[in-house]
Amino acid sequence: MSNFSIKKSASLQFHNIIMDKNRSFRPKRRIQKGEKGYKLRQLIKHTLGTGDPNKYVELPEGEMLLEWISVHIIEFYNEINLIYGALVEFCTDQSCRVMSAGPRYEFRWTDQNSPIPLQLSAPQYINKLMEWIEGKLNDRNLFPTELGVDFPSNFIPSVKVMLKRLFRVYAHLYHTHMQKIIEVEMLRHINTSFKHFLFFVLRFDLVSEEEMSSLGELIKEFKDEYGCQPVVLL
Ligand SMILES: [Zn+2]
Repeated sequence: MSNFSIKKSASLQFHNIIMDKNRSFRPKRRIQKGEKGYKLRQLIKHTLGTGDPNKYVELPEGEMLLEWISVHIIEFYNEINLIYGALVEFCTDQSCRVMSAGPRYEFRWTDQNSPIPLQLSAPQYINKLMEWIEGKLNDRNLFPTELGVDFPSNFIPSVKVMLKRLFRVYAHLYHTHMQKIIEVEMLRHINTSFKHFLFFVLRFDLVSEEEMSSLGELIKEFKDEYGCQPVVLL
């Protein structure tokens, strides 16, 4: 291969990667105008990534906490969808035979169809996970879209499991695909997204630090940088 064609193919590859940044892994979950959470979604859009994450996870005055949580989980799902969509071609059954976060943490899949924990490759696991979350978000009993309709009593326990599982995608990407994340210039994006996730789940006690210990060092770094507000007990 001549120098020119090497250069050309490298630049084409780079171009494709850039394009992929806008490719979502699964369809985005949108909140339509007039639906529950629309106003809060607009608010997050305008404050995200601006300085101290403690500030932008704070419940705005006069707003409903459960609605704030529901809007955030949709936001995190969409964010992770986008991030994983950009990296999916590097996360294969061959490169990531087991869903893990470093050598000490392996995650196995369970749901109502597979009550015995299943060992899956990372792409299989993440595919199942995102499909499962999508199903939950589209369940109108769990995530009502009509204004004035209350959230069900199992909302918080369900959300805690969803967030615990979503965390594992960040953990896998940071541990296994850091080199690629840097190469495709997504580190800032994933850090901003993870900080938002982290400070939100800590603030409202939705995922314990123990559950997130696979990223313990990074979490400590972020907490040292910004400090952490006391937990709001639900
Ligand atoms: Zn992977």
